[in-house]
Amino acid sequence: MKRFSAQYLIDGDGTLLKRPVVTTDNDGTIISVADTGGSLSEMASLTFCNGIIVPGFVNSHCHLELSHFRGKIERGTGLMRFIKSIRALRNNPASSGGGREAAVRHDAAMASEGVVACADISNGTDSFNVKAESGIEYITMTEVFGPDPQEASVIFAEAVKTASLAEEAGMRSYLTPHSLYTLSRQLLDTIKDYRNSREGGVTSLHFLESDQEREMMQLADDGRYRGSHLSGVMNHITGRGNLILVHNTFAGRDEIRALNSFRSDIYWCICPLSNLYISDTLPPVELMMSEGCSILVGSDSLASNDRLSILDELKCLQERFPWLKLTDTIPWATLNGAKALAVDSRYGTFKPGKRPGLLAIEGADLGELRLTGRSRVRRLI
Ligand SMILES: [Zn+2]
Repeated sequence: MKRFSAQYLIDGDGTLLKRPVVTTDNDGTIISVADTGGSLSEMASLTFCNGIIVPGFVNSHCHLELSHFRGKIERGTGLMRFIKSIRALRNNPASSGGGREAAVRHDAAMASEGVVACADISNGTDSFNVKAESGIEYITMTEVFGPDPQEASVIFAEAVKTASLAEEAGMRSYLTPHSLYTLSRQLLDTIKDYRNSREGGVTSLHFLESDQEREMMQLADDGRYRGSHLSGVMNHITGRGNLILVHNTFAGRDEIRALNSFRSDIYWCICPLSNLYISDTLPPVELMMSEGCSILVGSDSLASNDRLSILDELKCLQERFPWLKLTDTIPWATLNGAKALAVDSRYGTFKPGKRPGLLAIEGADLGELRLTGRSRVRRLI
């Protein structure tokens, strides 16, 4: 049995406790959380942290298989040039090696910085062994794209095969469209029908990462899906399971409102450091909060980020939106992500019986409950 305490605990639902005692089994299963009301008495075998205890993080959007592209794409080129650069790197044998080593290294770094579960996009099988053997629970989103309607059935069959290999490796895996503007309507509908025929699951969709997407989708004449983002989600994405909309950098109030009232299982994932890297823009965090969005946090890939660190994403948000409190953002990085990935029976809060991981955030402003430039995370379990 182990006992932990700290100046504060912020649980995945935003609950704040002063100097509580968290008791766990040796394997990290939560036995109890005692609220001392701030008056902690001497106790045997207690680890005390001069900081804030939080549950393990959930990274709600990552592409581990792109880890070897770190530093290879120029900053600030905008999304369309970024996507071209990724394709060029993928097709160039000189730059496509070293993927496995980079994935191993960055998976380990992510785990040591507190990530316990991760929604990870895969286009191929390169990262499957690393993910299957990791201490992080990966949910693999097998990503599909293809604008040519003639190729839809071949691309779909290939993706089903890739997803089944992820499952054979022992991971949950779901077919998921890359975005509305990179698939033909036929391919979107084929994925939708397939997912409708299966239970639950998770869909992840890159959504309004660039303002150009709207125009491209209105004018598409090369077979790609043509229409609005709203109608795309409402008519061409499965209603089964949870839907994670990723980025939302250019999402407007009407779009957010319409989608939140269309279905209650939509999650809005933000990847602020990636947005700054690619387009020097941030998502409308205040608007999303005022519309009651279930917000998640993702690192995106190392092609558009320096590190796969959820704390770095939270620090970026803190710097750009100084009024945010950790009681706002910790739920985004823990319980909301666990719910979106349907792993909240194990992760996301310190509820007895769960094994959510236990992190200490040190170097925070304890008076204001905000992160500072010096904040760091230490994994205790
Ligand atoms: Zn992405």
